[in-house]
Amino acid sequence: MPKIKDITNLLERLAPLRYQESYDNAGLQTGDAQAEVTGVLLTLDCTEAVIDEALKKGCNLIVAHHPVIFKGLKQLTGRNYVERTIIKAIQHNIAIYASHTNLDNVLYGVNTKIADKLELQQQRILINKPQTLMQLVSFVPVENTDEVLQALHKAGAGNIGEYSNCSFQVTGTGSFLPSDKASPAIGQAGKAEEVQENRIEVLFPAYLQSTVMAALQKAHPYEEVAHYLYSLENQNQEVGIGMIGELAEEMTEEAFLAYLKQKMQLQGLRYTTIGDKKVKRVAVCGGAGSFLIKDAIRQGADAFVTGDVKYHEFFDAESQLMIADIGHYESEVFTKEIFYDTISKNFSNFAVLISEVNTNPVRYTF
Ligand SMILES: [Zn+2]
Repeated sequence: MPKIKDITNLLERLAPLRYQESYDNAGLQTGDAQAEVTGVLLTLDCTEAVIDEALKKGCNLIVAHHPVIFKGLKQLTGRNYVERTIIKAIQHNIAIYASHTNLDNVLYGVNTKIADKLELQQQRILINKPQTLMQLVSFVPVENTDEVLQALHKAGAGNIGEYSNCSFQVTGTGSFLPSDKASPAIGQAGKAEEVQENRIEVLFPAYLQSTVMAALQKAHPYEEVAHYLYSLENQNQEVGIGMIGELAEEMTEEAFLAYLKQKMQLQGLRYTTIGDKKVKRVAVCGGAGSFLIKDAIRQGADAFVTGDVKYHEFFDAESQLMIADIGHYESEVFTKEIFYDTISKNFSNFAVLISEVNTNPVRYTF
């Protein structure tokens, strides 16, 4: 039977914890990572009602988008819903795992899900996260090159977009003089040596640095492995916040509002008008995305779909684009489908259930 860590490792391949924002607290919040999974319940928020549902359905792992422990806890006495939820989870051996801003910051995460629901075409990340890529250059004897490259690829180096096992190499002559105390793989101590070597180059995500370096050290035949590590300024097309894309056909303001309501299953929404201007290019950000309004305008979006927009932030639309505040919960509720697809595609020996609890604390009346 798979263990809880097998599920969390899988979710972290999709959304590495290193991509969470500095204020966040994603990851395993309660529970034993080594425990066997009896069932997984998927939710946007982990509340007491969700713990009850997990108990009723025999699930000992809850995967949530929002971390129930977000700020520090100084006591656990059950005086608020956070403490009561944690106490109940621990009492019943229920593990709680949160994939939060790390899932906002990856391709195929929260924002791609919204863009897919709106059937946006030519999707790309709105703002790429800087400095997430590195380059490794090393020098390997010609006959060992394949073995070293294979080890680097296995460690996650050389995956670029839809391409894997990418590398560059060029052959040259390496020279070295081992000291009397050295035990060289090629040549002898105290004798100058020349070897045909390949200079190999691979790109990798910065969070894999220690894994990739360990793989290089292990696979490389030399005692001292010559290498250069570079932090790159190149944009990583797979890491960043928000998405932008185009509707198949441009729409009037009225038609777009109806389209949004239908596709995102909304009861209502708050928006700024663009009058007679048509909507074709649409930017989206799940949750509270108003910090991206100016970027959406700069990239020519006709509409920006998000949640939690404050009164004064609506003025930032400047009639250049429609700000559509569809609600925090409503913008992210389909995140559960990402968890469902990811886990059920890889495991079939336990139940993966989408929670039936509506955790939205906000209700509407008209
Ligand atoms: Zn959120």
